[in-house]
Amino acid sequence: MTTHSKGYAAFKKDGDLAPFEFDRREPKPNDIVIDIAYCGICHSDLHVVEDSMGMTRFPVVPGHEVVGHVTHVGPGVTRFKVGDRAAVGCYTDSCRVCEPCKSDMQHMCVEGLTGTFGGFERDGKQQSWGGFSKNYVIDQDYAYRIPDNLDLAAAAPLLCAGITTYSPLRKWGVGPGKKVGIVGLGGLGHMAVKLAAAMGADVTVFTGSKGKLEDAKKLGANTVILSSDPDQMNGQMGRFDFILDTVSAPHDIQSYVNCLKPMATLCLLGIDPAALSFSPIGVVFGQKCIAGSLIGGVNETQQMLDFCGEKNITADIELLPAQAINDAFHRLSKNDVKYRFVLDMAAL
Ligand code: NAP
Ligand code: ZN
Ligand code: ZN
Repeated sequence: MTTHSKGYAAFKKDGDLAPFEFDRREPKPNDIVIDIAYCGICHSDLHVVEDSMGMTRFPVVPGHEVVGHVTHVGPGVTRFKVGDRAAVGCYTDSCRVCEPCKSDMQHMCVEGLTGTFGGFERDGKQQSWGGFSKNYVIDQDYAYRIPDNLDLAAAAPLLCAGITTYSPLRKWGVGPGKKVGIVGLGGLGHMAVKLAAAMGADVTVFTGSKGKLEDAKKLGANTVILSSDPDQMNGQMGRFDFILDTVSAPHDIQSYVNCLKPMATLCLLGIDPAALSFSPIGVVFGQKCIAGSLIGGVNETQQMLDFCGEKNITADIELLPAQAINDAFHRLSKNDVKYRFVLDMAAL
C-alpha cells in the first residue's frame, strides 16, 4: 500500500505554491517513515520554482532540508527505531555500486542520484516529492541522525546549507593558519562562517548588504568587507588561501580571483545558470584554481552533523508556519532573510 502524503507544490514556473496531495512508495523492509517536523527553504528550492535552469517538471513539491521523527521502521531497519529523530537531505538513493557511490561520493553517482524531489525513485516510475510535506519514506542508508543536543528546527538547514559548505571547507584543508573568504551571507554563507570559524580558520565575509556587517562578526567572522566598496576590496588583494562563493545571482568573480594568494582556490557553490566571466591572465599567472562543489556524500553528511553536535552549531533561522510558504519564498527572492527560513510542518 502506498503512503499517502500532502504538502505544497508549485504547478507552473514562477507560480505560488498551493496545497497538494500525493502518494509516496509503500515502505520496503529497509525503509523508515519520517513524520516531518520542519523543512528549511534553500535558494535551490527557489531556483526550481522559478525554473531558472529550465529543468523543473511541474507539479513539484520542493524541500530538501528535512527533519522529523520516525513513525515506522521496516523489518530490515537497524539504525533507527520509532520515535527517533531523523533527517533527509538532498538525495535519497543512488546506484550504490559505481566508483563514486563506493567512495562516499553518492552525489556524483554515474547512474544518477535519486533527488529528494523532482525526479523518480530507483524504479523510474514513482515520483519523488520533497520535504514541504507531511511525511517521507526513505531507505535507512540515506537517512541521517541529528545529534540530541541540537535544536531540531535550527538543525534542518544543516542538511543542505551545512553539508554544502562543510564539504569544500574540509576538502580544501580549512583550519588554523588558513585565511578563508566567504562571499555572500545567506543560508549557505552564514553556515560557512560558523563552520570555518569552528575549524579554526581566520574568516573574512564579503557581503553586498550593509545591514549584515554586524551580524557577520557575531557569526564568527574576524573581518567583514563591503563588496561594493572598491577601497575595501582592493585592500584584500592576494591575501586568501581559499574563498567560498555562495552568491545566488550573476556577479563579478574577477575581484575574488584577485583576492586569492598564488596557487589558491576560489570555489563556487551558487548555481544561477548565468555565465560568470574572469580574465585568464590572473588565473594563469597566479596558478590559481576556480572550482565548484556540490553538496556531499552520505557518510560525510553524517560527519558534518556530528561535528555540528560537538561544536553546538545550528543555523540562525526564522521559523514560520507551513502556511507562510509563499511569503517566505517571496522574501527569499528579495534577499530578505536572516539567515534561513524554516517551515513548521506539524500543522499540515
Ligand atoms: P541565499 O540564502 O539567498 O543567499 C545568497 C546570498 O547571495 C545572499 O544572502 C546575498 O548575500 C548574495 N546575493 C544575492 N543576490 C545577489 C546579487 N544579485 N549579487 C551579489 N550577491 C547577491 O541562498 P542560499 O540558499 O545560501 O544559496 C546560495 C546559492 O547556492 C544558490 O544559487 C543555491 O541554489 C546554491 N546552492 C548550491 C548548492 C551546491 O551543492 N553547490 C547547494 C545549495 C544551494 P549578501 O547579502 O551578503 O551579499
Ligand atoms: Zn539546498
Ligand atoms: Zn552510483
